[in-house]
Amino acid sequence: MLSFEEARRLVVEQIGKKRGPRATNLVSVWDALGLVLAQEVKTDREYPPFDRSTRDGYALRSIEAAPGTELQCMGEIKAGDVVTKPLAIGTCIQIMTGAAVPPGADAVVMIEHTQRSGDVVRFERAANAGQNIVPRGSEAAAGQTILKPGMRLGYAELALAAQVGAAQLQCATRPRVAILSTGDEVVLVDQTPGEFQIRNSNSVSLAAQVRLAGGEPVVLGNAADRVEDLSEKIALGLKEDVLVLSGGVSMGKYDLVEKVLKAMGAEFFFDAVAIRPGKPAVFGMCQGKSVFGLPGNPVSTMVTFELFVAPAIDLLSGADARPLPFVEARLAESMSEKPGLTHFLPASIEWLGATPEVKALLWQGSGDIAALAHANCFLMVPADRDRLEAGERVSVLLRKDVV
Ligand code: AMP
Ligand code: MG
Repeated sequence: MLSFEEARRLVVEQIGKKRGPRATNLVSVWDALGLVLAQEVKTDREYPPFDRSTRDGYALRSIEAAPGTELQCMGEIKAGDVVTKPLAIGTCIQIMTGAAVPPGADAVVMIEHTQRSGDVVRFERAANAGQNIVPRGSEAAAGQTILKPGMRLGYAELALAAQVGAAQLQCATRPRVAILSTGDEVVLVDQTPGEFQIRNSNSVSLAAQVRLAGGEPVVLGNAADRVEDLSEKIALGLKEDVLVLSGGVSMGKYDLVEKVLKAMGAEFFFDAVAIRPGKPAVFGMCQGKSVFGLPGNPVSTMVTFELFVAPAIDLLSGADARPLPFVEARLAESMSEKPGLTHFLPASIEWLGATPEVKALLWQGSGDIAALAHANCFLMVPADRDRLEAGERVSVLLRKDVV
């Protein structure tokens, strides 16, 4: 059976092989958060466009500043002021953060290191050439590419685009991800289930995960555990970029998802992964589309989405797959676990001291949504370990949506 790393690598490899050019559209910089850029963005001029002071203080010639030097102050320069006149020898000028340093000056001395009486400024220490000045063009040259296709637009990337006047950005459209739950026992979220029925929480968590991963959820509802209903709804799902199913991939008599997909021409790259929860996870291609059959137990569905579906959405958006957000933490309490599979247990991580501390939460297995709703991470227990001791360094997969 594949490890989760091997299974994930297969997803990346197969989708990387198949992906074609993405459809794009022009999006305002105000609305592009989280989208993947599909164009180059170049600077419209040098950055900074002038020698910029990074401090409030006095601009001067560094060779003229020594402890005790006094210089005549010739006025002031505010941010935004037009500066052309060179600084006369033997003088200084008051300058504000973000203002242009005048020709002739090569240093800015912080106001804290000066004393002023009238128009005379006394300097307490020597100055170095270039201090507290960001030279013109040192951040970027004019016409330089500063954002590239495939980059994900976070707040800093959007600010950079805004800085250079790229108010509209050509972005990849979000991959459309069909979500189909399966099971005779599943009813709509706004229905009252019978005693032995359950509400369709998986479609809700999957839609949320698709959004967080940068996709556009297309919720197809629920298919009964019957070949005809499954075939019909899977056919609808195959119209989208990706199809994600929940349930019906285990060994039960009514777990028909693989069988139906196969009849529709699917080729499978894996149909089991050595993890718990999530062992029966399936990945394949059907009629040219990526299909994931995730086990129906809610925590299994959520974990396997993060491990296998999220990277697919990245790739189909034209970006690289983002790495899984693992961090190292100190285990708070010793624990035992059955070896053989890599476990991802609902856990709580806290940053108290230098090293974060993690503890597994009590849970009733992969149907226990409440346990995960109180967790902010998954504690990973390697397949070859049956016991972890308090104080050990362990790997923790963060829940990016809450930490
Ligand atoms: P399955 O993978 O189809 O064997 O389902 C495993 C478990 O997950 C069963 O207890 C199901 O009732 C539950 N389950 C299946 N689909 C959903 C769903 N859409 N929402 C919540 N729980 C589900
Ligand atoms: Mg089922």
